[in-house]
Amino acid sequence: MTVLPNSLHARDIAYQIHPYTNMRRHERNGPIVIERGSGIHVYDDQGREYIEGLAGLWSVAVGFGESRLVEAAARQMAKLPYYHTFTHKSNEPSIELAEKLATMTPDGLDHVFFTNSGSEANDTVVKLAWYYNNALGRPEKKKFIARNGGYHGITIASGSLTGLQVNQRGFDLPLPFVKHVTCPHHYRFAEAGESEEAFADRLAAELEATILAEGPETVAAFIGEPLMGAGGVLVPPRTYWEKVQAVCRRHDVLVVADEVINGFGRLGTLFACEHFGIQPDMLVVSKQITSSYQPLAAVVVSDAIYQAIADQSERLGTFGHGFTASGHPVATAVGLENLAIIEERGLVANAAKVGAHLQARLRAFADHPLVGEVRGVGLIAAVELVADKASKAKFDPPGKVGFRFFEKAHEHGLIIRAIQDSIAFCPPLIITEAQVDEMIDRFARTLEDIQAWIA
Ligand code: PLP
Repeated sequence: MTVLPNSLHARDIAYQIHPYTNMRRHERNGPIVIERGSGIHVYDDQGREYIEGLAGLWSVAVGFGESRLVEAAARQMAKLPYYHTFTHKSNEPSIELAEKLATMTPDGLDHVFFTNSGSEANDTVVKLAWYYNNALGRPEKKKFIARNGGYHGITIASGSLTGLQVNQRGFDLPLPFVKHVTCPHHYRFAEAGESEEAFADRLAAELEATILAEGPETVAAFIGEPLMGAGGVLVPPRTYWEKVQAVCRRHDVLVVADEVINGFGRLGTLFACEHFGIQPDMLVVSKQITSSYQPLAAVVVSDAIYQAIADQSERLGTFGHGFTASGHPVATAVGLENLAIIEERGLVANAAKVGAHLQARLRAFADHPLVGEVRGVGLIAAVELVADKASKAKFDPPGKVGFRFFEKAHEHGLIIRAIQDSIAFCPPLIITEAQVDEMIDRFARTLEDIQAWIA
């Protein structure tokens, strides 16, 4: 595309540093400027329509252009556009949303701390675990165990929990308090002939060996996304979570479920913890909590953690942690309205029903010569493209074909995420079966182009 002088495109190149972008490539090609959205579609400033197959960044549950969220924000803006929650101040929407989260999240989680982003929420998780163990007189119990392939954000602590090279290369991460264990992806990391259950046994044994090698008295927590998102939409092997939890309980290691992508219906259950039978000590949510119409995340903790940190705050005089926008009234008002829409429109059930259709339609590509694996649950899925189906060999270099797919898909009016050579889908929860069919048709046309390009 020609970039005209002084156009939005030229000014974007001149002034804006983009996240997750090769900046030199951006200078050459310029941005796709998205101008507006409606339902599952977004439109760029050239008038092109796209199906948003990733719901923005796995987040726009209720779709684009939802006027009830606009009105909820406007009402709150007019009444009280901002107030903080430091030093005993509070505001109505943050109180209501905290109560709502305590009620709707898995049993035993009933105290809520708000942040602006998932990364800040996971930083808060680390600080809470440290503060908690200091409170209990266990100052050595500070290490975190996370998984290769996991994604927990990009700040210094959360970026250390993340197990993806792309977030660590060039940034001197991870910090040494984090130990990473094997990615629970059967297709890539199981041994030949190993069943899902046997793979899960091996991963649980590896976790236990890691805790014992580090010393259980030094390990504070294990963190994981129930179903990994940004690492490639990786569904854990059967029985993985029950085995991992049992290891953590044996060594008094907290279990943290990062449901920033999974939460609020994505897998066809309200939380993925239900789907996998996880009883976490801390739960992290964001994204679909407001459909990303406002930045908001939350950490929901058990009463045992709350009581210990509350005592510590009294001993130290205050809980010295919080963000200017923790419990922001506009963000929490939008969150409340968004969760009301999810409930009223039965979007969790829709994710289960339409998700089953999506999974079936994608699994029909399993025999395609370029497809190594089709995976997912509910309305989150991925199709992994491989150079050689029999040996599962990746393309050389990995990601080249995926990036080409990502670009080509735009020409067919489809936005997906390419994670190396896995094509990820995570459409708005409002999507219908007919719209899934249209999305799959656009995917199939792109796949044909890619097959011709490779040949
Ligand atoms: N945790 C998970 C599971 C995520 O998927 C993400 C973002 O994609 C984060 C944490 C970080 O959230 P944020 O980008 O809001 O910092």
